[in-house]
Amino acid sequence: MADTEKIPVIEGLFTLHPEEPKLIGSKCTSCGTYYFPQTISCSNPDCSEERVEDAFLSRRGKLWSFTVQHYPPPPPFKAQEPFVPFGIGVVEFPEEIRVAGILTESDPEKLKIGMELELLLDKAYEEDGKEVVTWKFRPV
Ligand SMILES: [Zn+2]
Repeated sequence: MADTEKIPVIEGLFTLHPEEPKLIGSKCTSCGTYYFPQTISCSNPDCSEERVEDAFLSRRGKLWSFTVQHYPPPPPFKAQEPFVPFGIGVVEFPEEIRVAGILTESDPEKLKIGMELELLLDKAYEEDGKEVVTWKFRPV
């Protein structure tokens, strides 16, 4: 049986590499500030240049904050059915940028601020027989 086709929840936010996906951001060519999602110009007020280039974020970061969602997100967001509670975390990357994402771990007893997490792609939900994937974070 052929693999289910995988499509990104939003185009252009991450690479679809099966083992080592990366978030796609922007980096200022002058001051080095990172942005996610991508931007068209640097918004650092102390920066004289505004040019940015495509840049990947590290695949690992540290858990900065988290919560556990116990109810399905309201439309237009979609969740797997049947719904199971999931963790949501904000991860701080070495590029000094924070990105929110779903956590593979939903037990708050097993989540600690500062723990190292790694990016992966995982199913968000199914639609028209396709697997819609998004980025998530798992403990290293
Ligand atoms: Zn800049």
